[in-house]
Amino acid sequence: MRLNISSLVGRNGASFHIEKEFPADFLREIPEVSKVLSPLIAKLKVTNTGEGYLVTGELALKLALHCSRCLKPLETTLQTSIEEEYLNHPPESDEDPLWDEQPLVEGNEIDTTSLIEESILVSIPMKTVCQEDCPGLCPGCGAVLAEETCDCPDPTIDIRLAPLSKLLQQASETTTAERRKDHGSSKEKTFKSKS
Ligand SMILES: [Zn+2]
Ligand SMILES: [Zn+2]
Repeated sequence: MRLNISSLVGRNGASFHIEKEFPADFLREIPEVSKVLSPLIAKLKVTNTGEGYLVTGELALKLALHCSRCLKPLETTLQTSIEEEYLNHPPESDEDPLWDEQPLVEGNEIDTTSLIEESILVSIPMKTVCQEDCPGLCPGCGAVLAEETCDCPDPTIDIRLAPLSKLLQQASETTTAERRKDHGSSKEKTFKSKS
């Protein structure tokens, strides 16, 4: 998105707000993204700093990411803030070793395209799961194990046994708790210290 800053030229400290919506086409090639569900909304403030123009603001976007285990699409709202100063002139390279990272004003315009795209890209989580214990896909046949069972050997047996072992664990925990109630924790301690 190119912003015209001619209204701020020569007015140190002056600023304007701008709100724009545009399609986030650059996300189509990103493998984590299943679908882009809304336009990208940018609410920005541009301030003349004397040295250049400071852009601050918020970006928001709705999209569907893939669960990194079962690949199911998950709706997510990305929100991120941005801050970047566009300089009128490149600083002396000796003075500021960071100069490479700072963009320049181009005539009466600043180009926020790469600032906005990079900010959105880094805010996409590397790993998203549909639920904490998503079992993912069967390595044998690709079945979505949270929704279906399959006839593949080993991995499926583990999955089928998982609820059973949970039940057993719960049962043993209950018994221990009941035993503690019966005897009382102080008595248990005494008993332990004797033995
Ligand atoms: Zn999942
Ligand atoms: Zn399978």
